[in-house]
Amino acid sequence: MDDLMHNDPARVIEADRAHVWHHMIQHRALETTDPRIIVEGRGMRVWDITGREHLDAVSGGVWTVNVGYGRERIADAVRDQLVKMCYFAGAQGTVPGARFAETLIAKMPGLSRVYFANSGSEANEKAFKMVRQIAHKHHGGRKSKILYRERDYHGTTIACLSAGGQMERNAQYGPFVPEFVMVPHCLEYRAQDGLAGEDYGVRAAEAIEEVILREGPDTVGALCLEPITAGGGIILPPEGYWEKVQEICRKYDILLHIDEVVCGMGRTGTWFGYQQFGVKPDIVTMAKGVASGYAAISCCVTTEAVFEKFKDASDPMAHFRDISTFGGCASGPVAALENLAILEEENLLDNSTRMGAYLQEGLRGLMEKHALIGDVRGKGLFAGAELVADRGTRAPAAEALVQAVVADCLKQGVIIGATNRSVPGFNNVLLFAPALIAGKAEIDEILAAVDGALGRVAG
Ligand code: PMP
Repeated sequence: MDDLMHNDPARVIEADRAHVWHHMIQHRALETTDPRIIVEGRGMRVWDITGREHLDAVSGGVWTVNVGYGRERIADAVRDQLVKMCYFAGAQGTVPGARFAETLIAKMPGLSRVYFANSGSEANEKAFKMVRQIAHKHHGGRKSKILYRERDYHGTTIACLSAGGQMERNAQYGPFVPEFVMVPHCLEYRAQDGLAGEDYGVRAAEAIEEVILREGPDTVGALCLEPITAGGGIILPPEGYWEKVQEICRKYDILLHIDEVVCGMGRTGTWFGYQQFGVKPDIVTMAKGVASGYAAISCCVTTEAVFEKFKDASDPMAHFRDISTFGGCASGPVAALENLAILEEENLLDNSTRMGAYLQEGLRGLMEKHALIGDVRGKGLFAGAELVADRGTRAPAAEALVQAVVADCLKQGVIIGATNRSVPGFNNVLLFAPALIAGKAEIDEILAAVDGALGRVAG
């Protein structure tokens, strides 16, 4: 039965169609087309169940497989570990957990403690709970507010959605957790009236300070930001922004929580996105690239100062009252150790910087040919091309057109992404996040597909 199932694509598709509830898709679409089932991957290429080859420009759909597919070294290490000791959780530790924590912390000067979990959302939940507990224990219940930014995304749970600045994802899931407060985005291309121009970065950060002053600085515990907004439109912080943000957090004694779920593990060319900007965070969360999807692992990393706030032997309520059942899976840190070693040994951070520059240069080159591209943004192998109906007015391209470009690329055998739907001005960005092993040949292939797609879609 199993063999039959594996060998018969039609049976697999039938089973999928009948029983799998896919992420991120309107299932009506699958009534007329087959679900795409990926069966094999090598490097940056994947094959679907019909045998069709694709070049993956988004590292497994949602920028996860940083070291590429088919890494036997990771699989071997995970297998050996699973046979020896697969799992133990609660107050106990594991050997790979200790080894990975030490290796990770060496890449994050100023931080010192790693709390293991298994998804980006969960790591962010841990951070929110830490902030709330610090407020209870050290600020008499005040400082419980958590600021988040318009267009940032932190995950799928109700608390993460409460901290979610992509309204289209939140619209139908309220009521939300109280005391999460939004601050404005920092995309100059779509700046609010009067904000763009010289010193935009400083003024965009001051807009955060205004919210803090409005809410009352003694009520605000943390500011949670993506280093570069990912799914919300590849929003790079403008010049001067992070310096001012850091200054504001220090001034009002607000913890800076940086969500590195996408930008972490070399995606932007440094180990973490915040390291591009000289920021010193108090809490850093990470997931996707930590083990490149070979195992489910996420981490909430803190400074020793944050950790110390939970140490008080005289108070039975002082320790962090949290657990992650699958934070005890030894497969996570063992895969993460190998993943990190690959990034290091193959110089993939440098490759991300070099190939990222090549990708952006290529996308900018396409701007000369295609009026549809209004703006190109990115850092390392992490880039976005914003499509517009009119460059002068910056009127966003229609969602259908953006989707047509993605679909055309797919027809050509190249998988690219696009921002979430439904918010004009933000749903019109093509997304690129190839594995950090990408070479010029693969980037050229991606650019050629986009070039062809834009030409055809523009008519
Ligand atoms: N933070 C960011 C910045 C993300 O992009 C995502 C996922 N796309 C998450 C958190 C949530 O991660 P997960 O889906 O693993 O819960």
